[in-house]
Amino acid sequence: MSILRFNAVERASNRKAVEAIVPAKKVSEYFGENVFDHKAMKKYLAKETFDVLTQAIDTGTPIGRDMAYHIAAGMKMWALEKGVTHYTHWFQPLTDGTAEKHDAFVEPDGQGGVIEEFSGKLLVQQEPDASSFPSGGLRNTFEARGYSAWDPSSPAFIVDDTLCIPTVFIAYTGEALDYKTPLIRSIEALGKAAKEVCGYFSDDVKKVTCFLGWEQEYFLVDEDLYAARPDLSLTERTLLGHESAKNQQLDDHYFGAIPSRVQEFMKDLEVECYKLGIPVKTRHNEVAPNQFELAPIYEECNLANDHNQLLLSVMKRVSRRHNFRVLLHEKPFMGVNGSGKHCNWSMGTDTGINLFSPGKDREDNLRFITFMVNTLMAVHKFNALLKASIASASNAYRLGANEAPPAIISSFLGKEISDVLDRFENSSIEDAIKVDDKKRLTLGFGRIPELLLDNTDRNRTSPFAFTGNRFEFRALGSSANCGSTMLALNSAVAYQLKQFKKDVEALRSSGKSKEVAIFEILKAYIKESKPIRFDGNGYSEEWKEEAAQRGLDCENSIPLQYDAYLTPKVIEMFKETNVLNNKELIARNEVKWEIYIKKVQIEARVLGDLSLNHIIPVVIRYQSVLLETIAKLKETFEGDEYEELSAEPRRLTRKIARHICAVTKMVDEMIEARKKANSIVDSRSRAIAYHDTVVPYLDKIRKHIDDLELMVDNQMWPLPKYRELLFIR
Ligand code: ADP
Ligand code: MG
Repeated sequence: MSILRFNAVERASNRKAVEAIVPAKKVSEYFGENVFDHKAMKKYLAKETFDVLTQAIDTGTPIGRDMAYHIAAGMKMWALEKGVTHYTHWFQPLTDGTAEKHDAFVEPDGQGGVIEEFSGKLLVQQEPDASSFPSGGLRNTFEARGYSAWDPSSPAFIVDDTLCIPTVFIAYTGEALDYKTPLIRSIEALGKAAKEVCGYFSDDVKKVTCFLGWEQEYFLVDEDLYAARPDLSLTERTLLGHESAKNQQLDDHYFGAIPSRVQEFMKDLEVECYKLGIPVKTRHNEVAPNQFELAPIYEECNLANDHNQLLLSVMKRVSRRHNFRVLLHEKPFMGVNGSGKHCNWSMGTDTGINLFSPGKDREDNLRFITFMVNTLMAVHKFNALLKASIASASNAYRLGANEAPPAIISSFLGKEISDVLDRFENSSIEDAIKVDDKKRLTLGFGRIPELLLDNTDRNRTSPFAFTGNRFEFRALGSSANCGSTMLALNSAVAYQLKQFKKDVEALRSSGKSKEVAIFEILKAYIKESKPIRFDGNGYSEEWKEEAAQRGLDCENSIPLQYDAYLTPKVIEMFKETNVLNNKELIARNEVKWEIYIKKVQIEARVLGDLSLNHIIPVVIRYQSVLLETIAKLKETFEGDEYEELSAEPRRLTRKIARHICAVTKMVDEMIEARKKANSIVDSRSRAIAYHDTVVPYLDKIRKHIDDLELMVDNQMWPLPKYRELLFIR
């Protein structure tokens, strides 16, 4: 066995659990201790400042310069008392992950010494030297500068010795260069549109908030094994590796106990999360070996997304203490499940109503149906966009395989809700609506049965499933920023709700009552959005055909899926909701295509290197052993006896030699394909070329090498095998 593999496997299998550091107090006593939350704000800000800030957080009113100065002073005092020495604007560029640039609090005091300085100006706005973040040309065409600007709606927090201030990242001319900016815009648009529609049912609603509860899947792998696999270290996925004889067939990981090394990691992770105010709640094993999941209590969408982004970096840090590496890639291992990030999404009013909960009386039920049907309409109209919002080079390996929803968006409602919509659609106005003497609306077919929250027929194969009081969007990849898909969904639903209001008002102005107008419009919507409803098996082959017949987007190529952002319908929708303008959309697509190209390019390079420098040399060495054996057999035996006894080594040598030829030839071809693609100037066409002409080689080359893995002497194989990578002892 190669020394590297041998040592890695040895160390990984003898590793002892590292004990977690758990505070000797109740969680409630240290939850949020590293967050500048209400409690800290109250303590460190003057009452007037506190009131202005909380008002700004609740209603989005701007904060004046003076106020910012006072807030910064309070924040600094709080942070210094906690031993903090640095601060950073924390933002979410269009690459995966978050960005930060740390500055020390110290400034010269003019007398040869230093003082701790953190002014309102530094809190509110900064110009990070972030010119290398992708901007899709926005900063070249307009202004070189990009600014980070404070988002007061998400509280500042401390990591290590650094005060982190959540910020948006925008170009000098105001275009968004990040996920947070359009996400916040979409939350506003949705809140406003939903509040207007709520006005049909009650006068009390002043504010509608959207909520996000994510579920994060991830893999853990021992750090020594990770280091011995250049593909994992450089691309976060194994580009090679034959399936292990045993992987997830027995479902024993899913139901099994969490290994103690992992248990300690999870405990540490949870403590860190609690200190940062991330309300993590559930943890469990997932289907694949070494795969786990973590989910919090749901929160307001912007904060929830910040918390998810923060979690990803905390996870990476904490895993190292336990000699693990976290893999956030959607498909680190072939043949076992990949990792997703489910986004549970709902809307709620300031009067405490969940707009996706059927209520107690008939008015509530009509409101519920209104929001349900409008959401279906939005998902139907913008299904291609929603798919584009989760599309990435890495998620492509997960979607469509026999484990995750296919690359087609559809919605599962369950039998109860489907029945309600069918009855609504088929009832006549006279049947369905009887306006009683108080002019209230009644639905003739009675109330919707109280829904069971743990609806048992939940369909795991559906990408957009109704789960009792929320929708669960399951197509997002584990490494993604939820903002990408949340901003698309929020905007699409906001746009649809505005359209609904327009449609209802048009009927009313032709003399119909509010109730009748709402009823007729919803009936038409139920009909129109029907193609998006699918309760069957989303994994089946028949569904692919049927979906195409229904007119749903079935595009499989990631670079082409991104085109959905630039259709007239989508441009108009983002414009109408004020979430993204034309320029921003074009620039963001440039970034998406570029990132796609880079990811594939890196994988192709790593695979080429692994093939030629790691695998083939070892295979040739084994081949010479075989050839020597054959030569010796020839010296020892004669005629038929030689033929018979050398048959197996000769057969093996022939097979191995053919694989060697195939691999080296294909690596050459892949390099040529890359060269050709690289010469294309337009990034969309280049991404398409990478998808069509480079990606196929990754699988083809792998197939030969994985076959070789089964033929070559195990002792010689240089890389840790799946059976060694996938089981934590
Ligand atoms: P499952 O794995 O069965 O889908 P989990 O209990 O693991 O369910 O996760 C449920 C997720 O849904 C959690 O993140 C939870 O916070 C979130 N959630 C629950 N209710 C709502 C809601 N009304 N709006 C948004 N998210 C919600
Ligand atoms: Mg789920």
